[in-house]
Amino acid sequence: MSEGLAIYVHWPFCSRICPYCDFNVYKQKDEINLIPAILTDLSFWREWTGPRSVTSIHFGGGTPSLMSSEDIYSVISRIKSLWNLKLSCEITLEANPIDMNKERWEAYAKSGVNRLSLGVQSFYDVALKNLGRDHNSVQAKRSIELAKNTFPSVSIDLIFGWKGQDELLLHNDITEAIKTGVDHISTYQLTIEEGTAFHKSEIRGNKKSVTADQSADFYDTIVEKLISAGFEHYEVSNFAKLSHQSQHNLTYWKGLDYVGVGPGAHGRVTLHNSRYSTISKMRPQDYMQNIELMGHGLETREKLSPQEWSSEYIIMGLRVDNGISIQKYEALSGQSLPKQKINNFVDNGFLLIEGDKLSTSRKGRNVLDHITREILI
Ligand code: SF4
Repeated sequence: MSEGLAIYVHWPFCSRICPYCDFNVYKQKDEINLIPAILTDLSFWREWTGPRSVTSIHFGGGTPSLMSSEDIYSVISRIKSLWNLKLSCEITLEANPIDMNKERWEAYAKSGVNRLSLGVQSFYDVALKNLGRDHNSVQAKRSIELAKNTFPSVSIDLIFGWKGQDELLLHNDITEAIKTGVDHISTYQLTIEEGTAFHKSEIRGNKKSVTADQSADFYDTIVEKLISAGFEHYEVSNFAKLSHQSQHNLTYWKGLDYVGVGPGAHGRVTLHNSRYSTISKMRPQDYMQNIELMGHGLETREKLSPQEWSSEYIIMGLRVDNGISIQKYEALSGQSLPKQKINNFVDNGFLLIEGDKLSTSRKGRNVLDHITREILI
């Protein structure tokens, strides 16, 4: 049986650039047609990975809901013609609520998209405006309704920790999110990244986010409320109803293989007991040119050292409730985990050990960066 494979397709265009965004995104340009390049890149990847069973496809960005249904169809069809698509294959498309369009979304569903992930961010109009979003809460709710009527699984993203948010506003956002009846909620803390418009404002003394302490309190409230509402807290920032975990993201967290096509996409592929890390050319023009000249869009393809591979395995794996296999970590790294440190974390309620499984407790997830740093020193 061939090994599983996830496929990430990066669509780098947005109708406008949000002031907190540090992804590889560009303002939509109709004259650039990326699709032929992405299709050629997929063929290159098929030669490299060999036959595999595709477990998930994820159209991320950027704003893939700006893609036409014909383009979505041609990408999915190319993937189907190159690899074996698992019957249960999860096909997700990230969407902006403002792009809701019944006909187009129905055509996405007909092409095979079975999960829509909506960038709602908040149900509070003042916050949406301050975050530079081009939708309001009424449009957000309408888009969720339409998505629920069109796709078998619907996820929404929320951002917390924006300037002016207090416990009451947070409570309202989470309550509204629960009321929508979606199956999956991702909650992200607003972080101010260098190079963004928010970062420039902060340099001028205009704070855009709450304090780190407030954010930590907000996180506790979110976890509390979503668990009480019947969501499983299966990853640091992700909550799902039964059987609605993101299969694609679990590929990243479990250290499995994924292809990354489209400008700036990352990939990880394991071949003959070696693990390779790839990054595609960042700028759409460079990506297309590379494909024309070389047949692929890669900027780098590097073999990970045992230390890089095992570190990644632990950093990603401890994010999910199932944690990591201690044996696998030791086989990858060629060394044992630091027993004394692990035992201290276990005794203080941050880590849990169950047979071969090492995972974080709820308390541990709050300080995950610190734990992984300590373990890997
Ligand atoms: S829509 Fe998403 S990807 Fe595009 S600029 Fe805004 S945050 Fe970034």
